[in-house]
Amino acid sequence: MIDNLPLFNAIDTASEKVLREVFKSICKEVPEARIEAVKQLLVENTTSDNDEESNSNNDSENPSISKTNTSNTKMVVPRYAVCQNCEMDFETAKNSSTACRYHPQRSEPTEEMYVDVYEGDDFEIDSEEMREDFPERFEFPCCSATLKDNPHGCEVGLHVDASAQRDKTAKRARFH
Ligand SMILES: [Zn+2]
Ligand SMILES: [Zn+2]
Repeated sequence: MIDNLPLFNAIDTASEKVLREVFKSICKEVPEARIEAVKQLLVENTTSDNDEESNSNNDSENPSISKTNTSNTKMVVPRYAVCQNCEMDFETAKNSSTACRYHPQRSEPTEEMYVDVYEGDDFEIDSEEMREDFPERFEFPCCSATLKDNPHGCEVGLHVDASAQRDKTAKRARFH
């Protein structure tokens, strides 16, 4: 039996950058790995753009010639994306208007957090560690709930692909 432990330990401790490079080179070298990676990470784009002109009534082997050379090829898109609102991974094909729960504003330390802090203390109050240790002392301005009361969120909506939003920040105004 193969002992996976040393390898899995290395995977757990390697940086994201190294892992991405290793993964890409495996996909390049090993055809089976590439097939599996495509299966797990990509999905065909089933959403139709409203500005698309061509009808897909005739999607046989002989598609009509179009002006652009990409519109007749199947679009593949990443299967998973990171949501800019809840910061979780989500399956792009399974997004829905109730899939995402988040607070539109970031939690802030309450006054209680500063009571025992003296000048010269060198620890950061507004940190992830403090949020873990004192969830009852961090409040969301959007709904006044504390991190302990409602860690998940006061708003429900669609997950928003963070990478897609980065590419089209100019279009963002449309969504608000
Ligand atoms: Zn909130
Ligand atoms: Zn989300």
